[in-house]
Amino acid sequence: MENQTPHISLLPSPGMGHLIPFIQLAKRLLHHHHISSTIIIPASGPPSNTQTTLLQSLPEPISHILLPPVLDLPKNIRTESQITLTVIRSLPSLRGTLDTLRQTTRLAALVVDPFCLSAFDVARELGVKPYLFFTAGAMTLSFCLLLPKLDKMVTCEYRDLTDPIELPGCVPVHGRDLLDPVQDRSNDAYKHIKANTERFAWAEGIILNSFLDLEEGAIRALEMEEPGKPPVYSIGPLVHTDSSYESDRPECLKWLDSQPDGSVLFISFGSGGTLSHAQINELALGLEMSGHKFLWVVRTPNEKSANAAYFSDQGQNDPLSFLPNGFLERTKGMGLVVPSWAPQIEVLSHGSTGGFLTHCGWNSILESTVHGVPLIAWPLYAEQKMNAAMLTEGVNVALRPKVNENGIVGREEIARVVKDLMEGDDGTKVRLRMQGLKHAGAQALSEDGSSSKSLSNLAFRLKNNRNI
Ligand code: UDP
Repeated sequence: MENQTPHISLLPSPGMGHLIPFIQLAKRLLHHHHISSTIIIPASGPPSNTQTTLLQSLPEPISHILLPPVLDLPKNIRTESQITLTVIRSLPSLRGTLDTLRQTTRLAALVVDPFCLSAFDVARELGVKPYLFFTAGAMTLSFCLLLPKLDKMVTCEYRDLTDPIELPGCVPVHGRDLLDPVQDRSNDAYKHIKANTERFAWAEGIILNSFLDLEEGAIRALEMEEPGKPPVYSIGPLVHTDSSYESDRPECLKWLDSQPDGSVLFISFGSGGTLSHAQINELALGLEMSGHKFLWVVRTPNEKSANAAYFSDQGQNDPLSFLPNGFLERTKGMGLVVPSWAPQIEVLSHGSTGGFLTHCGWNSILESTVHGVPLIAWPLYAEQKMNAAMLTEGVNVALRPKVNENGIVGREEIARVVKDLMEGDDGTKVRLRMQGLKHAGAQALSEDGSSSKSLSNLAFRLKNNRNI
């Protein structure tokens, strides 16, 4: 086994937003450093069609193992708790899988995502080196590293703090804009995130899917050595790049082919984002008022949760039936509406796409950066309000609409911000800055770029890891 090439096991938590960057990490380690991997997937149900397609296209020798689904989760708990509990209840099957891998490969590490820190116990037990792959940005990582300390120092809810929280090298963030699971400290979701973040210090290294020009202050602060803080490797922007549609291209891409350059606004709220029915109505009428071309991924509305579609990309009802009366007829030729899911990478890389109204999920941010598409920031859940603050007040590559007193973004405001992005001076400025970031991101991943160097340092560590 000494002469075998190193192998690593990767443990993303359930959901596309985590699986996609893990696959990219596996591919980059394989192609640049000959490190092979097995992606181990915990789940609370069968994989979605999109997941299956993605997993079936993995190049050898990257393999995947679906752990037996966890079926007895409590009802009515937050998405973050569902994810953490799924992972905790998958630990016995993970142990068996890792043990087999340890005996059959030169297993150099277990790399987990921020919801899977409970798996570090299994890694320790089996003598496998634990690493964390942080699939969100540097600002959120900085907050997670601070959370165990903050929990001891602050007695009230963070949203009730009068002063914003200063994270090293980041724009100040108000407590109410911190990630969802810390908004209610009595909820189990808070206990789970606290328990997860307390284990960050156990990691041999933290791999970060970001790059210097996107979050310079935060990354420089994270890379400074400090007792108890693992080394941080910024290796991004890693995004899904391969097109799945060489021959049979979906209708929306064919539609984009016939639109003028940079003329279309793409609207999508990630793999799980949902709006209320009232908000869908305003968005539709606002788009119509703006007079700009659009391609909109519409989901069945949900009145209770902003991430109702997180575990399944197929809504139960026809999402288009919730659009305002006559909207589809009136906007024919001007806009295209796609139910539930669109090939986002192909849309963002298409020359006709000139802007992206996004829920500010980390992958969506990186994907628009890689393709130089300026943004309208419309955060919904998880850490997306922090991302929106970084995008609008930090790197200035996004415009942000105002939410009214009813918690809705009204149609006039939507029309204003769309026009501003697509034809206004503010739009020109953010577009130019996004072009700059696009080049900086490509530079970071080039042979001598900062992210390639970080990945080489990580690969060196992995190749020299010796497990028992
Ligand atoms: N995505 C897609 N089509 C869709 C919606 C999402 O291809 O209609 C992909 C998107 O390209 C990204 C991922 O799903 O890679 C969503 O990840 P992100 O971090 O942006 O948001 P999350 O879904 O985790 O909230």
